Amino acid sequence: MADTARNPHAGAPFTDDDATIAAALEEVSVPALLCSMVHLTGDPSWIRGDIRPQYAMLNDFQSSMPAEMQAEARRLALAAIIDYRDSGCELPPAPGPELIHEMMSFLAVAPVDDAVVPMFAEDLHLDGADSRAIEWGEEVSADVRADAHVVVIGCGESGLLTGIRLAQAGLPFTIIEKTDGAGGTWRDNRYPGARVDVGSHFYCYSFEPSEHWSEYFVRQPELRSYFERVLEKYEVGANCRFNTEVVSATWDEATGRWSVEVRGADGAVDTIDARIVISATGALNAPKLPEIDGIESFAGPAFHSARWDDSIDLAGKRVAQIGAGASGFQLAPAIADEVEHLSIFQRTPQWMFPNMNYHRAVPEGDAWAMRHLPFYTRWFRFLMFYPAAGLSIENSRVDPNFDDSDGMAISEMNSITRAWFGDWISSQLADRPDLLELSMPQYPPTAKRTLQDNGSWLTCLKKPNVELVRTGISRIVPEGVVTDDGVLHEADVICFATGFRHNDFLWPMTITGRGGVTLREQWGEEPEALLGISVPNFPNLFCVYGPGTNLAHGASLIFQSECQVNYIMSAIHELLAGGHRSMVPTAEAFDAYTSRYRSEIAQMVWAHWSVKHSHFKNSEGRIFTISPWPIPTYWGWTRAVDPMQYEFD
Ligand code: NAP
Repeated sequence: MADTARNPHAGAPFTDDDATIAAALEEVSVPALLCSMVHLTGDPSWIRGDIRPQYAMLNDFQSSMPAEMQAEARRLALAAIIDYRDSGCELPPAPGPELIHEMMSFLAVAPVDDAVVPMFAEDLHLDGADSRAIEWGEEVSADVRADAHVVVIGCGESGLLTGIRLAQAGLPFTIIEKTDGAGGTWRDNRYPGARVDVGSHFYCYSFEPSEHWSEYFVRQPELRSYFERVLEKYEVGANCRFNTEVVSATWDEATGRWSVEVRGADGAVDTIDARIVISATGALNAPKLPEIDGIESFAGPAFHSARWDDSIDLAGKRVAQIGAGASGFQLAPAIADEVEHLSIFQRTPQWMFPNMNYHRAVPEGDAWAMRHLPFYTRWFRFLMFYPAAGLSIENSRVDPNFDDSDGMAISEMNSITRAWFGDWISSQLADRPDLLELSMPQYPPTAKRTLQDNGSWLTCLKKPNVELVRTGISRIVPEGVVTDDGVLHEADVICFATGFRHNDFLWPMTITGRGGVTLREQWGEEPEALLGISVPNFPNLFCVYGPGTNLAHGASLIFQSECQVNYIMSAIHELLAGGHRSMVPTAEAFDAYTSRYRSEIAQMVWAHWSVKHSHFKNSEGRIFTISPWPIPTYWGWTRAVDPMQYEFD
């Protein structure tokens, strides 16, 4: 078969010897291997026997299959793979939809509901095509396209994706990016230890190959390179203005166009005309420094984790790390051995669950399988996606019949989770009751962003040069950090791992819509948008990763972006093909959506009264940041715009 015709997920043909293949199989995910065998042999019996995954669990690549069962599967697969190799790596006809459904249920260890099969199928791309690629026809004329300049704000994962789709639609567009390249959060967050905590083979564009990752949860430099490579591959760079910041965007009702004011690195201000503006700024991009007395008085270098100062050599330094959320959790273990002393100031302990694959390199054998075994990497992706598909979001709902008065759990199931997470923390700190007491959270599990640990965080706390400080911070002085008990914790360097202005969407830009209203005035402390995407009074403005769309219960933000960009492209199509000038959500659609959102989110664990500090919550303790929707529900809502929910003119 000519390589040009080969499905990109079918794996590259190979001639490796038997021993090499056998060695590779020792390192693969057996459940994903068995699905690959169905493709490779055309025989469904691989998933119909007794050799099968036992339990679908996030980040368990073997799905609890006993070792002997795995060994038998490998033995059988080896013979089939050798035959396949010897016959020139020719694939039999592809499995049909029913068999694909069966394979999903096999990996899920449960029947996968008919309603969600299309979502997983779309994400798997087993036919080798990009199912969400934009293919507009004559209904949008070349003139209309040429006049529909789109400004995209930001070139992180979602802005880059937006650029790819706009290019496919043949629309003129400009991406304004304040830094010097693509990657967004994966460009900004260069602190030591920064890595993704959603499996890499899922945390990537669904339509791009994913067999190249060097670790199961890759570090920041590799992600940054990935986005740079995708930018180049899709030739989006020519449409980017790097080192340029959007200052404001103003809607002109008379012309039905946006005027976007941008400022270059040299301070020069320029205005760009656009019919459509798409915000792809990310929700966690503006660093938040704590309001601590004396913060300016510190004598040494002090910086935010997302503004890591590479010029500073931490060797032999006393470092104060203020904040121990997702960033701090990665930072401390990465620098602890280098610094003389590390004081970690943690206001609230974090829930975490064990993930032994968290720092694991993809071994050569698994990398071989990803390169060569048909559709293996796609099924490995499904293995990551299925348990994270939010199908069990009901576990995040506060049970009104459960006694939560002690603030420790919100339901029976949540108590079980508490015991599981708590056991991990206890097991790691059994020899340090002092640290155990400081580290056990006193709020329901999953109520803040749940972190993952392979032992690195809790082991780090036990190092002789590391001190976990749970006493509140009173002030910062030139010599270090003073806690409420009057103790001065001397430091040479302070790193603020204190998070981001999650509630301040599109901050600090001034976005002015109809009637001169600004987004900030309209939103105040309660940012809301239809589906988190479009906002009344702001015609032809769309947000990716807007209010109420961050994920605390599953999936990957890249998957979420693919849903949102899909919807936005459908909306733009409706606008242009319909010959309209502008579109805004109707008051009815917006009100119906937002009242449902408010009611739903208020019932969820993240809104629980026992959580005193959380970047999910606004200053009044209410939530407008994260999604309460099951992943398939939101996927369904964003497959295509509903024109009835919009006013066009
Ligand atoms: P974060 O989770 O909000 O953590 C901020 C830390 O700073 C918390 O420990 C917080 O304490 C503390 N803090 C904030 N203000 C403080 C103050 N005034 N005094 C004392 N302590 C203060 O921020 P983050 O760690 O940067 O993570 C933010 C989000 O970014 C995450 O939820 C996640 O979505 C994303 N992220 C992802 C990854 C990844 O994929 N691996 C890595 C990093 C970040 P409290 O807990 O008491 O508020």
